Amino acid sequence: DGITLEKVREYVWEIPREGDMRVPARVLASEALLEQIQDDKTLEQIKNTTHLPGITNYAICMPDGHQGYGFPVGGVGALDAENGCISPGAVGYDINCGVRMMRTNLTYDELQGNERELVDSLFANVPSGLGGGGIVEAGIDTVDEILSRGVDWALENGHAVEEDLLHCEDEGMRKGADPDKVSQKAKDRGKNQIGSLGSGNHFLEVQRVTDVFDGDVGEAYGLEEDQIVVLIHCGSRGLGHQTCNDYLRKIEKQHQGLLDQLPDKELAAAPAGSQLAEDYYGAMNAAINFAWVNRQLIMHRTREVFERVFDRSWQEMEMDLLYDVAHNIAKKETHTVGEDGDQRELYVHRKGATRAFPAGHPEVPAAYRDVGQPVIIPGSMGAGSYVLRGGENSMDLTFGSTAHGAGRLMSRTQAKDEFWGGDVQQDLEEQDQIYVKAQSGATVAEEAPGVYKDVDEVVRVSDELGIGDRVARTFPVCNIKG
Ligand code: 5GP
Ligand code: MN
Ligand code: MN
Repeated sequence: DGITLEKVREYVWEIPREGDMRVPARVLASEALLEQIQDDKTLEQIKNTTHLPGITNYAICMPDGHQGYGFPVGGVGALDAENGCISPGAVGYDINCGVRMMRTNLTYDELQGNERELVDSLFANVPSGLGGGGIVEAGIDTVDEILSRGVDWALENGHAVEEDLLHCEDEGMRKGADPDKVSQKAKDRGKNQIGSLGSGNHFLEVQRVTDVFDGDVGEAYGLEEDQIVVLIHCGSRGLGHQTCNDYLRKIEKQHQGLLDQLPDKELAAAPAGSQLAEDYYGAMNAAINFAWVNRQLIMHRTREVFERVFDRSWQEMEMDLLYDVAHNIAKKETHTVGEDGDQRELYVHRKGATRAFPAGHPEVPAAYRDVGQPVIIPGSMGAGSYVLRGGENSMDLTFGSTAHGAGRLMSRTQAKDEFWGGDVQQDLEEQDQIYVKAQSGATVAEEAPGVYKDVDEVVRVSDELGIGDRVARTFPVCNIKG
């Protein structure tokens, strides 16, 4: 209400500093996208985050941004790791929710006619929905190992190959993970969910590549038109959710003084250097490893399903991981800040935002270092999705980040009033030959294509700003959901 935005230049808007704001806030959007965040709390929330101690340069809202818990989804906040703070609400409940894309050498022509069998088989073999167990059912000891070792555990246990680790951020193992800081309750929630999609917005989608915009980068990523790829979106399940909850409650209790300075209780943060900041960071890193293992197990199971449906080995179908991106995390990173170009260690919070490091950055895996980090942006089950590459301007404008999706237009409750699952499913199949299978019709309604913004517009803004450049576009073939 009454928040004024000043236009800095095309696609860059600023909420100027006033009152207790420590820095200005920036919104990266076209006029059309701005229009869609007038009635929710997105602008108020991004403004509120500028009150967090140690916030550096700007609080930034990505083109797909919308209202979230305290901190907007699509928000980036870089908080000084020495004098600032870390905030669980600015990471999100689903710690290391993210997406990975797996390539194949199958073409759409080869797949046509097998959609029904494929979607049924994926649905039968990849656990989804509330309950329903996971690919691996484990005891607490195994959970602890997963929490500290990440995908390295999956490799040792036959759920991964070496190359999968090389195509994952941090090689699938976040350092500084401390399983002892994850509660028993969180581990109990996670132990039967290892290798499961969960419900709602999470999905596994078989897609075909419809466009390659940048041939050279497309080649480096192994993408070409008409190729079949698989997109997997899920996170850390009950374990991550419980961890976020545990630390929010602890921080509210122990750091009331800091909380009193903030305009929204949902931004609760632990001061850098405090015991709770260290504990949360260790627990969050552990939950990050859990989510990577979760996506890895689902991907590996998908390989086995393709083997049965197409009667060929997955190696023969060249089902390799292109890349895995996290879109709900905080990470200690060193960035160049301020006029004199100081190097500073920051807790970069990306909530509903994707890291998008440019060509040459040492943290981009060797296979892609010459062209930049792959960035994966899902659209909806009825629209396209995109592969981008980290853009030249991302380090200057967004602490090396871009959008994470199309972004929601309406709440789940509103979605269920507007759409009926069965109708949505039927339309997708009849009009677009997209085969959707879900545990519940309500989920299909809540995730109907119409509840999301225009992913083409989100990606256009990212590309124009040079924070993430368009490489390829995909379109759904079949989709399973919780
Ligand atoms: P979030 O992690 O915030 O729930 O969502 C990430 C993004 O995934 C959403 O903003 C939306 O654009 C996209 N998305 C949601 N459901 C689907 C789906 O079924 N298929 C594809 N390709 N994208 C989806
Ligand atoms: Mn999630
Ligand atoms: Mn997500």
